[in-house]
Amino acid sequence: MATGRTISASFLTDLDTKIIEFCNSISELILNSIEDKNLKKDFKKQYGKISYTRDSGLGLGGGKLQRDVVCTRGRQGKAPYSNRNLRWHPLIVAEQPVNYAKEIERIEIDGEDEKQILLFVVKINGKEQKYPSDKIHELPEKFVALPKHWFEHIEKLKHWNDTLWTQNSCVIPAYEACNWQDSIETYATLAIAVATEYYNINFKTIYKKVVTLLKNQNIDKSISLPTNLFSKNKEEIITCPVCKLPLSNDLQQFRQEERIPTWQPAWRRSKKSEGNDGSNQILHVNPLVETEIRHKANTVRYGHRWCNVAMTDHSLEETIDFMEFIVNAHNKRN
Ligand SMILES: [Zn+2]
Repeated sequence: MATGRTISASFLTDLDTKIIEFCNSISELILNSIEDKNLKKDFKKQYGKISYTRDSGLGLGGGKLQRDVVCTRGRQGKAPYSNRNLRWHPLIVAEQPVNYAKEIERIEIDGEDEKQILLFVVKINGKEQKYPSDKIHELPEKFVALPKHWFEHIEKLKHWNDTLWTQNSCVIPAYEACNWQDSIETYATLAIAVATEYYNINFKTIYKKVVTLLKNQNIDKSISLPTNLFSKNKEEIITCPVCKLPLSNDLQQFRQEERIPTWQPAWRRSKKSEGNDGSNQILHVNPLVETEIRHKANTVRYGHRWCNVAMTDHSLEETIDFMEFIVNAHNKRN
């Protein structure tokens, strides 16, 4: 379980705030379209809640939609990764140069002992500027730190303890990064899917409303939304990309024997629903890579847990080929 919180978790730039506000307006649109009082409450609690933080907040923070598409995954360990951060956060780490972020100049380490801090030196308009780990969110554009930048510090960083890493948890992995408009469009896509599949909202009606909202965004007028990556196809949005069944299908028809409950410590909060075959998980139709941004409206979907687990880190094509091989291997084909 993650404990160390992302550094500067509650610091948002004006742009960050506007983007999260926009996600909130999508969530509100859906909330206002739900008629049943209990379903309204449920949507807000499970999916729609918004937290004005970089990491979606702790405990009763943002809902599943925010955690899944606005934030990177939670992670810890002896590395400078944020324990969740905004996907458009301006400092990424990668194994090789990428064409969507500028290279930093170098990394310096400032301070002594428990007060050591990473300084990222970048060139802005030809001038060198230093950004300490707790000010990284203020970088005006996307930068990337590569292995060569860490190289001279490896011997020192090997000995850093958890406290030091926590106070320097300021980067996100390149493959989880995207541009802010990708986060908004994926938020919109998954929100429509959830609204239609779990909250009895008419697809056409909510789709139209969300598209109108996207068209009227005023975060940056030079970008027109929705982009051509935003799906127009109902089936594509509301079904699981792997099994093609609606998201709300719990896959119970594939279980031959009733699932017998296992003992759970009664004093702990149950997390059972996350472990069901049919519970939804964020899924990337094409696996994430560092070399290009793939967390986009055309690749991010909700899929069943069973289906998502079966894909591991493969593409849909590879998964289907593999499944076909398995079926043949068992002579199950009719
Ligand atoms: Zn599925």
